[in-house]
Amino acid sequence: MPLWKQLLLNAYYHGTLPWRSLRNRALVRSGNAPLMILMYHRVAGDAANAWTTPTEVFARQISWLERHFELISLEELQWRIRGQNNQRPAVSITFDDGYAENCDLALPLLIDKEIPFTYFVTSSTTLHGGFFPHDLAMGNRLAPNTVHQLRELVKAGVEIGAHTRTHANLGAIDNEATLYDEVVTAGRELGDALGIEPRYFAFPFGQHRNLNRRAFTLAAEAGYQGVVSAYGGYNFAGDDPFHLQRMGVDGPMIRLKNLTTLDPFKQWNIPRYDYQEIEQPFVAGSVVEE
Ligand SMILES: [Zn+2]
Repeated sequence: MPLWKQLLLNAYYHGTLPWRSLRNRALVRSGNAPLMILMYHRVAGDAANAWTTPTEVFARQISWLERHFELISLEELQWRIRGQNNQRPAVSITFDDGYAENCDLALPLLIDKEIPFTYFVTSSTTLHGGFFPHDLAMGNRLAPNTVHQLRELVKAGVEIGAHTRTHANLGAIDNEATLYDEVVTAGRELGDALGIEPRYFAFPFGQHRNLNRRAFTLAAEAGYQGVVSAYGGYNFAGDDPFHLQRMGVDGPMIRLKNLTTLDPFKQWNIPRYDYQEIEQPFVAGSVVEE
């Protein structure tokens, strides 16, 4: 993020902070404190691209988050949504894609602090090598995680989720077999390699235009407990517990602070993706086991 944008965001953040504090206090009092899911990609010492967070910034972000929020797993977040009550603002941390450098400092830091997180991995890059198309397009050859690294994460109790086979834009796919491959087979082959059954699925890119109603249905039928988007919405108790909305926080501290303290612009102007508009194969709340 360019410096001028950081300064502008900083002014906006401080200008709206009194309103945010009042709003957050009111939500806590009514048992409807926000449930936020953060999306990181790559934490490393270089500044290779917009989806890399410098290691020292990440460490500061985590200690800031520890001071201000409950840091919870996706499963706990879903419980709070279903329970229709959340007394404290809570944050769940996720990573997308599967970059090797995350295992240097970022993930060990979270594991040492016993902070839960979900790690979404694109299966083909980890299982067969190669680089991500979005990195190659920028001229970057950034190493993906190895199977060995992911097995170590599983041993440490980390939740590994599926993130398609080829990092395809699912919003542009209407071929049933290809969608099945990217949503269902991707999770199975990743799970087979790691000895797990991935419980969550993340849409690549995650904006409204990258989502796909049929893919939601396939994910539910395949037994995923939840799917995540990344267009920036907040979650609240009583929402649909299957589709969890995330916000991208790669980069500077001010972006993280702005989003997690309830950015009024984002809260009111980002509509929830309605995957049940045409087909209704899955009813919100039906994953609750009763
Ligand atoms: Zn991705």
